Amino acid sequence: MLKPGSTIGILGGGQLGRMLAMAAAQLGLRVIGYAPAGDNVASDVCAHFFEKGWGDTEALAAFAARCDVVTWEFENVPLSAIAAIPANILRPGAIALETAQDRLNEKRFVEKLGGKPAPYASVETEEDFARALDTIGAPGILKTRRDGYDGKGQWRVRSAHEAQSIRFPGVPCVYEGFVDFTAEFSVILVRNEAGEVHFWDSSENVHEDGMLATSVLPHSDLIASQVDDARAIAKHTANALKYVGVFTCEFFATANGPVFNEMAPRVHNSGHWTIEASTTSQFENHIRAVAGLPLGATDTRFAKVEMRNIVGAEANTVYDILGEDGPNDEGPHVHHYGKSKAREGRKMGHVTRVSNSK
Ligand code: AMP
Repeated sequence: MLKPGSTIGILGGGQLGRMLAMAAAQLGLRVIGYAPAGDNVASDVCAHFFEKGWGDTEALAAFAARCDVVTWEFENVPLSAIAAIPANILRPGAIALETAQDRLNEKRFVEKLGGKPAPYASVETEEDFARALDTIGAPGILKTRRDGYDGKGQWRVRSAHEAQSIRFPGVPCVYEGFVDFTAEFSVILVRNEAGEVHFWDSSENVHEDGMLATSVLPHSDLIASQVDDARAIAKHTANALKYVGVFTCEFFATANGPVFNEMAPRVHNSGHWTIEASTTSQFENHIRAVAGLPLGATDTRFAKVEMRNIVGAEANTVYDILGEDGPNDEGPHVHHYGKSKAREGRKMGHVTRVSNSK
């Protein structure tokens, strides 16, 4: 168990690191960040920030030497950089990153544990792609195995005919059948070193253009009927990874039960509402887990919750939302991530609304 004043290192400098650092500060823990030069918004709230490359093993060693524990907020930290951090202070362990960084690996991993992903095939060449289309059919989605996020590195294939116009990206991919889903939800859990696991409620997630737009509670009856199965898979997976910290699995709710989409070995956008609406937020519990502190309760304190992402230029007028109010509702909770460029399609902040009114 870390003592007050201990230092947690976070690999990655985005909004997730920023919110983790704020939660750590509340507990009297210092955070040092590490990420390559860029719009590292976590650095605003870190005691120190290393703007150094992932290949700079000397800088990584200097960073690790100043930390009692190291974690990450970005799942594409290269494994070579992770290898420069002593394994005894890294939480969660490298295997979680190794598994989740590759869409093919993560599907195989979860499938072995009894999870059900969409039909999929490994695609390394144009010929593989043609074969995958033959066996799985269209519609489907071609996704790069690595480095995809928020719908990037993905090509929708509406028909076999349309597939002919898709230029194969030339990197290892996975082709998956399009899932006819009714809703999407995520299971977010926290697990500590002793194997104790707590779940937050599963919000109903709506994506636009492959990117999360809103997370809402309560969820639909269909999700309610599938959460237990999805939780069991997520827990098996976290146990198999000997995972420490917050772990997320995304699912499609279908007529045939929950279909596993992907895992994120980290706090997740669909859990941002936990800051205001849960007894303990995903950020605080991640910090508690990696610091070896007792975990906090994860119950939802409101009847209704809605988290909406602020994307692109909307961030420039986000303070206007502060003035909005509804009867019996708490005022909106506005989070601006402090990013300097409001590029189109870029997550800039989010707004959470909570309510106990009917
Ligand atoms: P991903 O980055 O794989 O989570 O994909 C982002 C979003 O695209 C998902 O949350 C879904 O809304 C949609 N999507 C991805 N894969 C599929 C699929 N196989 N079938 C249907 N929709 C999908």
